[in-house]
Amino acid sequence: MERPHVLILGGTGEARRLGERLDADGRLRVTLSLAGRTAAPLPQAGTVRSGGFGGAEGLAAFLRAEGVHVLVDATHPFAARISENAASAAREAGVKLVALERPPWQPVEGDRWIEAKSVSQAASLLGERSKKVFLAIGRQELFPFVALPQHVYLVRSVDPVSADVLPGAKFVLERGPFDEAAERLLMEEHTIETVMAKNSGGAATYAKIAAARALKLPVVMVARPGGPRADAAETVDEAFSRVLHEAGLPPEKRGE
Ligand code: NAP
Repeated sequence: MERPHVLILGGTGEARRLGERLDADGRLRVTLSLAGRTAAPLPQAGTVRSGGFGGAEGLAAFLRAEGVHVLVDATHPFAARISENAASAAREAGVKLVALERPPWQPVEGDRWIEAKSVSQAASLLGERSKKVFLAIGRQELFPFVALPQHVYLVRSVDPVSADVLPGAKFVLERGPFDEAAERLLMEEHTIETVMAKNSGGAATYAKIAAARALKLPVVMVARPGGPRADAAETVDEAFSRVLHEAGLPPEKRGE
């Protein structure tokens, strides 16, 4: 009998781990979709496809053509467009949708967070006085900082950024997970005064927040677009169970 087909919209560690678990379970056919932004993505389980679908309509057409039973939105909490497309495509194609989203970080004692609603607003909160700023927000949203050349920027990203994008900035290429001691060292070496972060949640990139706390540095924390999702599974385990349920499969394989 043909196995139910699950399509995971990925680009996160959680999507990769969910794909691995479902693929190892063996009862579903797993396809993992990447946007194609990262030049050398980590290996993923199942069949991997890369690149946009052509909006919600394109995604709905893909779901129908590929006989997808369950769609998993395990994209990054800041990837708002693909999540909207996933919701409307699943509705249109009559496919079950499971969302997987890690909860946002919450400030703890000793944190000096300055909350911002967007990267643009976060940039405007840096103020007039020249500061050394660690931009740990990826490489796609550097534009607001171009208009603020009084600051000295350290930009970290997985893939290289053309120096023209943010003239005068220093760049480090590194992929998480990150370690707190190494983050402290990086901030100390570059005499960082402010950290700019997106509230991504999860353990892989939390080290910079802990390091900033230890060094008593302020963190300009950008909130998620649209806020946290109430309907989402928060862990890979929970999403795994929900996918099996939506695919009409029992939680454990028979005979185990
Ligand atoms: P976005 O603005 O929500 O999506 C823009 C377009 O990229 C979508 O409309 C879609 O194109 C395509 N796309 C996005 N994710 C896709 C996927 N998993 N498979 C196929 N197509 C996809 O997304 P973004 O913020 O640019 O992020 C792009 C990818 O990087 C996402 O997969 C996300 O999980 C990952 N990521 C994002 C961030 C972040 O901070 N935004 C951080 C880490 C990882 P079509 O409309 O043509 O289908």
